Amino acid sequence: PERVVIAGAGMAGVQTAVALREQGWPGRVTLLGAEPHQPYDRPPLSKAILLGKAEGSAFEVDFEALGIELLLGCEVTALRPEVRTLDTESGPLGYDRLVLATGAEPVGLPGTSGIAGVHLLRTLDDAERLRPVLERQHRIVVVGAGWIGAEFATAAREAGCEVTVVEAAEVPLAGALPREVAAPMAAWYADAGAELRTSARVAAVEEGAVRLQDGTQLTADAVVVGIGARPATRWLRDSGIALGEDGAILADEQLRTSAPGVWAVGDCASFPSRRYGRRMLVHHWDNALQGPRTLAANLLGEEPAAYDPVPYFWSEQFGRFVQYAGDHGAADTLVWRGEPDGAAWSVCWLQADRLVAVLAVGRPRDVAQGRKMIEAGATVDPVRLADPASPLRSA
Ligand code: FAD
Repeated sequence: PERVVIAGAGMAGVQTAVALREQGWPGRVTLLGAEPHQPYDRPPLSKAILLGKAEGSAFEVDFEALGIELLLGCEVTALRPEVRTLDTESGPLGYDRLVLATGAEPVGLPGTSGIAGVHLLRTLDDAERLRPVLERQHRIVVVGAGWIGAEFATAAREAGCEVTVVEAAEVPLAGALPREVAAPMAAWYADAGAELRTSARVAAVEEGAVRLQDGTQLTADAVVVGIGARPATRWLRDSGIALGEDGAILADEQLRTSAPGVWAVGDCASFPSRRYGRRMLVHHWDNALQGPRTLAANLLGEEPAAYDPVPYFWSEQFGRFVQYAGDHGAADTLVWRGEPDGAAWSVCWLQADRLVAVLAVGRPRDVAQGRKMIEAGATVDPVRLADPASPLRSA
């Protein structure tokens, strides 16, 4: 029987294997992952697992019952598509069809690799190394006020650590949100007792301290770096598979790569979106859930379907539930629902009279309704939209 090999046993790899079985793939399925652990979910790593509120986050999937072969603790080192072979730490592995799902790897702070007490947060091992750091209630410097930095700072404050967050931009989440929407979030850090230093750049990390470019010396028993992630595709460098400048595998709208019989999905791959008129690289959990369903159907050779989702994600930070759906890149109008210094508010983005994105803080209904409206290309009335007391759907 034909064999599908999936490289990468994170959310996207596991969901691909499961979707292939659910959709009736009759052949072999082999799921290969570099990490030694049972495949697990990443979002809890910056939340419950750091605080010891959960021991693990292994997926509840019965791989054996589904006839999925697991090869764990086995890194893939190269791909030779012309002979349909993967090179792995434990030798070559042939495939009939291949799915690339190696995810992303965190970007390190230059010059800090090997310095004791400098941490990244991507894997279960990272989280387990950080848990005792929190327990010791150390003074921690977090570099980067993005999603991971904010969630880590939340957990560290909850554990009773002294926390300083250093951010190069003028506001937190500068890479993800426009300034006026991100600016009110700076107050969340202070409310939680964390110090946020914006427009601040790290000059050097020394043992026990972080020195900023303005000369400030911050005492740091530990440093946690959260300055972004890039697709884990370096191993594909000589494979001939087309990669973008951002390192992402360039998938087409069906999630096929440039090599025959090879697909790509999740954090490692970008895809062209007709909906947004540009190529998208999405580093969020929902993309690693939805993409595999489309991929599996296409691999099974059903009516080819384009993968063109309305992106969605959530973050839990400083006691708030933050959600986002859509893409505001091409929006021309921003409408507030509620006051940004309140406990719950949201923001809607319109392009002409169509809803294209929603960000909600503590207003999950706005995102649930907004997501469907964006999907349907619904038009809205900005005046009615601005009334937080009336449901988004009635705007
Ligand atoms: P990954 O989860 O990165 O899985 C890829 C797997 O491939 C890894 O296990 C890796 O070891 C393996 N691999 C890589 N290279 C090789 C190789 N050469 N050979 C073999 N195996 C290899 N998203 C949200 O929407 N909401 C959240 O609240 C949220 N919280 C997060 C918190 C943390 C701490 C992190 C790190 C991410 C969070 N995310 C969140 C993002 C979400 O977890 C990712 O988008 C999702 O995990 C992507 O899945 P993936 O399978 O594409 O990649």
